[in-house]
Amino acid sequence: MKVYEIHLRFVKSFLIEDKDLILVDAGTPGSGKIIIDKLNKMGKNPSKIKFVIFTHSHIDHIGGASEIRKTISEAKFGIDENGVEYLRSGKIREPILHSSVLKFIFSIGKPFLFKRFDGVNVDFVLQEGELIKGIEILKTPGHTNDSISIYLRDIDVIIVGDTLQGTKNGLKYPNIYEDFNELQKSVEKIKSLKPSMVYVSHGISSSKFLV
Ligand SMILES: [Zn+2]
Repeated sequence: MKVYEIHLRFVKSFLIEDKDLILVDAGTPGSGKIIIDKLNKMGKNPSKIKFVIFTHSHIDHIGGASEIRKTISEAKFGIDENGVEYLRSGKIREPILHSSVLKFIFSIGKPFLFKRFDGVNVDFVLQEGELIKGIEILKTPGHTNDSISIYLRDIDVIIVGDTLQGTKNGLKYPNIYEDFNELQKSVEKIKSLKPSMVYVSHGISSSKFLV
């Protein structure tokens, strides 16, 4: 089993390669084609993707979902129950900001950042526990109430989406969160696994916790 980071403009998607392929997150609106192109360049056949799952329903994680659906219609799309409505209808989940710099960036970037996007049919709801053998879903709310992490026990790595943010020195709390208490609990849950690598959507993936 292996994890690949797929670098998009300012966010990442991830590919889990096992017997099947699993795509994690779909980037901003317009990223769908970029992801498919990158997979092809990596020598991974997009039609082998069995599941497309989402770490949470912020637009930079689900915006490209409908474009991916058009290319790989066979794959099953899954998200936490609290994210279903956002993914299905293309509804915007407003990020809850806790940084003045971010508030400024979002205030000027809003029309660009929050372009409407098409929703997709949700095939299944992610539950805590094994999705398929060796691939475990952990509910890790806080950043949003639909944030999940994907733990690959056999290779001792975890994909946490935005529950942690990567810096050049290690992993810190994100500046965007809905519930800090929940976020802290989720980070403790992740830390308790002592993963050898924590894959984050923004910044540098690492195994070093600064929090
Ligand atoms: Zn987010």
